[in-house]
Amino acid sequence: MAKYVYDFTEGNKDLKDLLGGKGANLAEMTNLGLPVPPGFTITSEACRHYLAEGAVPDGLEREVAEHLGAMEKRMGKTLGQADDPLLVSVRSGAKFSMPGMMETVLNIGLNDESVHGLAKQAGGNDRFAWDSYRRLIQMFGKTVLGIDGELFEHALESLKGHRQDTDLGAAELQGLVETFKGIVRDQTGKDFPADPREQMRLAVMAVFDSWNAPRAILYRRQERIPADLGTAVNIVAMVFGNVGNDSGTGVAFTRDPGSGQQGIYGDYLQNAQGEDVVAGIRNTIPLQELERLDKSSYDELLRIMETLENHYRDLCDIEFTIERGKLWMLQTRVGKRTAAAAFCIATQLVDQGLITLDEAVTRVTGDQLAQLMFPRFDSGAEKKKIAKGMNASPGAAVGKAVFSSARAVELAGQGEDVILVRRETNPDDLSGMIAARGILTSRGGKTSHAAVVARGMGKTCVCGAEELEVSIGERRFTAPGDIVVNEGDLISIDGTTGEIFLGEVPVVDSAVVEYFEGGEPGDDLVRAVDRIMRRADEVRRLGVRANADTPEDAARARRFGGEGIGLCRTEHMFLGERRQLVEDLVLASGDEERQAALDALEPLQKADFVGIFQAMEGQPVTVRLIDPPLHEFLPDLTDLSVKVATGDATDKDRKLLGAVKRLHEQNPMLGLRGVRLGLVIPGLFAMQVRAIAQAAKEVPGAKPEIMIPLVAAVQELEAVREEAAGILADLGVEALIGTMIETPRAALTAGQVAEAAQFFSFGTNDLTQMTWGFSRDDVEAAFFSRYLELGMFGVSPFETLDRDGVGRLVTIAVEEGRAARPDLKLGICGEHGGDPDSVHFCHQAGLDYVSCSPFRIPVARLEAGRAAFAECDSDTR
Ligand code: PEP
Ligand code: MG
Repeated sequence: MAKYVYDFTEGNKDLKDLLGGKGANLAEMTNLGLPVPPGFTITSEACRHYLAEGAVPDGLEREVAEHLGAMEKRMGKTLGQADDPLLVSVRSGAKFSMPGMMETVLNIGLNDESVHGLAKQAGGNDRFAWDSYRRLIQMFGKTVLGIDGELFEHALESLKGHRQDTDLGAAELQGLVETFKGIVRDQTGKDFPADPREQMRLAVMAVFDSWNAPRAILYRRQERIPADLGTAVNIVAMVFGNVGNDSGTGVAFTRDPGSGQQGIYGDYLQNAQGEDVVAGIRNTIPLQELERLDKSSYDELLRIMETLENHYRDLCDIEFTIERGKLWMLQTRVGKRTAAAAFCIATQLVDQGLITLDEAVTRVTGDQLAQLMFPRFDSGAEKKKIAKGMNASPGAAVGKAVFSSARAVELAGQGEDVILVRRETNPDDLSGMIAARGILTSRGGKTSHAAVVARGMGKTCVCGAEELEVSIGERRFTAPGDIVVNEGDLISIDGTTGEIFLGEVPVVDSAVVEYFEGGEPGDDLVRAVDRIMRRADEVRRLGVRANADTPEDAARARRFGGEGIGLCRTEHMFLGERRQLVEDLVLASGDEERQAALDALEPLQKADFVGIFQAMEGQPVTVRLIDPPLHEFLPDLTDLSVKVATGDATDKDRKLLGAVKRLHEQNPMLGLRGVRLGLVIPGLFAMQVRAIAQAAKEVPGAKPEIMIPLVAAVQELEAVREEAAGILADLGVEALIGTMIETPRAALTAGQVAEAAQFFSFGTNDLTQMTWGFSRDDVEAAFFSRYLELGMFGVSPFETLDRDGVGRLVTIAVEEGRAARPDLKLGICGEHGGDPDSVHFCHQAGLDYVSCSPFRIPVARLEAGRAAFAECDSDTR
């Protein structure tokens, strides 16, 4: 029979699929003998059942009752017992961390009777008991009963006036409880449920439901977390950080999640419950100050942090509570970190002997490396610094200040760069945070919502800039020195230093890019990147080539570690001044005129290839013969028609108009392009092959490979290949001749195609277009956002290779191609060649190399290295 509930003593850290990250790690800490309050976890399987069927699975209520009974027995009191209540928290916890996106309800078990029992437990502390009770109604009201949280906030604010919430007395809080109960009655037509077990039952379902809250859906999409995992629910005996000044709550990291430096990083809030810290409601104190307040808890905490780091062999973040001098661990997990910290920590752990260099390679990702290649502010530029906050998430961001998420989304939609400025953010700000280039807050520490979420997204963030007075209502903030920044004013924020500047600060390349460009590995970060990249290069089986079609790009590709060119598109070589020659080619009235136009193009093409062969210094260069339909090189139909209609046209214009009309196609992507052009326009491909061969003869060591685009049938390839092979033989040049696989038919008949091809290069842009029937130029803007919302796919198939469909065609082509020609060379040159997940796929599919844009080469090298470790997933969420 299915088991839906696990006691903390039954689980372990490897059961995240079932118990979620929080539940699995609470179990792990329990088994390590650390001070974790008793509790149990309802599995994500139960949640999935509930979401699919609209009802909890049979047997769940019985299992929960049994585990609660066991917990009550251990604690010697029952849930909500009037004179001595056991209270519990009901906490969400999915496999992947989704900070603040789902719900948690604390203090379950309180009602008008047990509130007195709680006061008694706390040594007659009435204030604490009423404060806990009002928190329950507030959280339960908002989360479980769906009441607008503002109603409770308003009632609390108007009672508080200018005081801190800790200044409220017991009688005032008791009054607030009555007010809150009234709000519940008004809003739902029912009384706040007094029965503790009913409270718990409803809270569990609300946590299940929160899996599908809009902000959780949005977060999952952003972070590419599968939509069907569901969340586990943890029921944990309450411990209280709000019993008095000998109590408190905090969050900590075992080392700096921003830079990776070792040390003690955390925030502590005296006399408070957990949610107060993350919400940034009151300002926290640095964790080090806890040593002065409660030395024994502090020392114990440090010991536990060391135990956890050694056990998890990684940076951990933790949440803890101190209840009257007793330390309790409420959560731990391998902590999120910035990209820079990820590289530094991985190599530090190697030096500490905790992990091997191979493990270090698996601990960082290509996405993180890509983030480190972002530009930073030019240190030599003039800047007007107006304030400094905390460096919560690195990078350099410039944009117009906006003060609401809605405005951020609106302006970003119009193509503007914006910086979202808030006092503090909450989960409802997610859409604005996604839309903004950077996030700036005036309150909250490095563990505040803004900081945690921005780091997770790799977005620049400066938080807790307390010198700023942010007025959301007036849409402006002020900084010291009477500086006023209104909505729409440009600001620049530096997430690496925490500095805030007025106006636009110019940005420069990152140190990591400078290193890839040939610089020395200078600082710790670059040294860490260097070490990991070297190892990735040693272990990877996939080659990495570049998509490059100019000598400059080719040279950069080599500097970045490219091992050849996998795709040199030749069409840009027909633009600019050379358009006219293409026009002559199209307008040619006979063989002679056409040949003359081609003859004029040939030396220009040859010079193009000489430059590229020289830049690649003997590495292979795959030149793709011209691919796009010729009308793309001709003037626009409307422009020409207007010219002709207004009498401004020359003779040539009139002829061109005729040609444009003749060449017009309803579906140019499926029309006269690729190999079809080569077959229909005599001499075109031959001219290109001759230019390639002549250039190769001129550059010692040049290794050309000739690639035919858009082949669908071996007959097409055979015809072109024969002519090309003849030209190469005549000129005494050796070059491989191969084809792109970018039509489904070519993939499905790969065994035949391989008879005429020495290599295949998967053109997965077109292959995706034709497999899905999605116009690659239109659909992303037209309807992909809706498709993503509907969960049709988690990520655009143009971005990450669709393994089930396109991937299957690739696999068939690899198998059948290699069966027909065992030494067939196999690569990929669609955009997917630089996408981390797709690189892993290419490794698994047995390709020889990936080819991507020069800037993505380091990412592909790293991911190819990671893919070589079979157990390494393509991400490390
Ligand atoms: C492709 O289709 O994947 C490809 C590389 O060719 P292009 O993008 O030039 O059509
Ligand atoms: Mg293509």
